[in-house]
Amino acid sequence: MSSQKTEPRLATRVATRLVKGGTSPAFEGGRAVNPPVVRASTVLFESMDEMNDARRRRGTERMFTYGARGNPTGFALEDVVAQLEGGYRTRLFPTGLAAISMVFLAFARPGDHVLIADCVYQPLRHFVDTFLRPWGVEVTYFCADGSDVAQQIKPTTKLVYVECPGSLVYEMCDLPALAEIAHRHGALVIADNTWGSGLQYRPLTLGADVSIMAATKYLSGHSDVMMGTVTTTQACWQTLATMSDAQGVAVSPDDAYLVLRGTRTLAARLAMHERNALEIARWLVARPEVARVFCPALPEDRGHALWKRDCSGTNGLVSFEFAQADAQTAGRFVDALTLFGIGASWGGFESLATVSNVAGTRTCTDWSRTGPIVRLHIGLEDPQDLIDDLAQAFARIQT
Ligand SMILES: *Cc1c(COP(=O)(O)O)cnc(C)c1O
Repeated sequence: MSSQKTEPRLATRVATRLVKGGTSPAFEGGRAVNPPVVRASTVLFESMDEMNDARRRRGTERMFTYGARGNPTGFALEDVVAQLEGGYRTRLFPTGLAAISMVFLAFARPGDHVLIADCVYQPLRHFVDTFLRPWGVEVTYFCADGSDVAQQIKPTTKLVYVECPGSLVYEMCDLPALAEIAHRHGALVIADNTWGSGLQYRPLTLGADVSIMAATKYLSGHSDVMMGTVTTTQACWQTLATMSDAQGVAVSPDDAYLVLRGTRTLAARLAMHERNALEIARWLVARPEVARVFCPALPEDRGHALWKRDCSGTNGLVSFEFAQADAQTAGRFVDALTLFGIGASWGGFESLATVSNVAGTRTCTDWSRTGPIVRLHIGLEDPQDLIDDLAQAFARIQT
């Protein structure tokens, strides 16, 4: 798995491994705290024998043999992510969406059936419509809580793809129970773990075979780099590695460096995102303008019991439904905010707000009769300033 140098000597906890993993090589004199950015296309060998040996082994072992096969900066990040996720090994991809599409390319074939959770990151539905279905893969969406998976699974089902908690309104599913059903039918369980970041939720320890993260979000943490990660069990590793080598997908060492740098402070940042988000979520619950607050860490959230059982914390994401407002008013509310940026994505240090089209991204459950839903990403600002900003925006839409 990872190189000997990065193996901690003590049985350490995750926050320690985020700091200690993926170390740098020694030079004459000493060793930098962080690994260097190794930029390379060509990699040189001492002899033809050495080159041929590396080429023979690179399909199954980690070998620095050519830029398109990964680079030492990326390898260091892969080790940190594999430990974070509790998996065997990790591969890096240029975006979270590219990581997702590679998993389908590696594990699905025309004629296969795949089950996908209703609450998935919306662009995956676009990938299904533009590639998977035309390619010949049969796709069925299942309820976000997983309640209909046992009925929907069939002999041709190869993958059960979950996202827990789900995008936008954070539906929880019972992953160990789902994995049991899937494995009994010979299907693999794929999880999008972007919400959990490997710290708050660890699908591979709950029965998933493959865990995907958009490192674009909390791992990078600074809204300035794109990346996706795929971590698998030992049994699933070779299938993923062979397909991504065949496709020639690699990430830049500069980007890997930035994500590794962000990962060092993941535990500290997430603790603060969580604290700020919970303060704002509780404030929103008490507001007359708000019908419902979506955050699985709140006792009144539908997924709270599962969250309590399976997650070790929450992050900066909080969505809420307006009690009495149309989508236009919700848009005016977001426009009136001064400290929240308006933009896609999340996981950076800054707060964001958008009006979410939940009804348009769910097909198993009917969200058309709910009020408009605003998704907040709570950043590292002072939460009282954010509350003041939300309060003035609520006041503005009354007039
Ligand atoms: C953002 C996101 C992705 C995609 O990541 P990109 O790096 O933006 O391609 C995938 N899944 C979830 C749940 C996300 O939030």
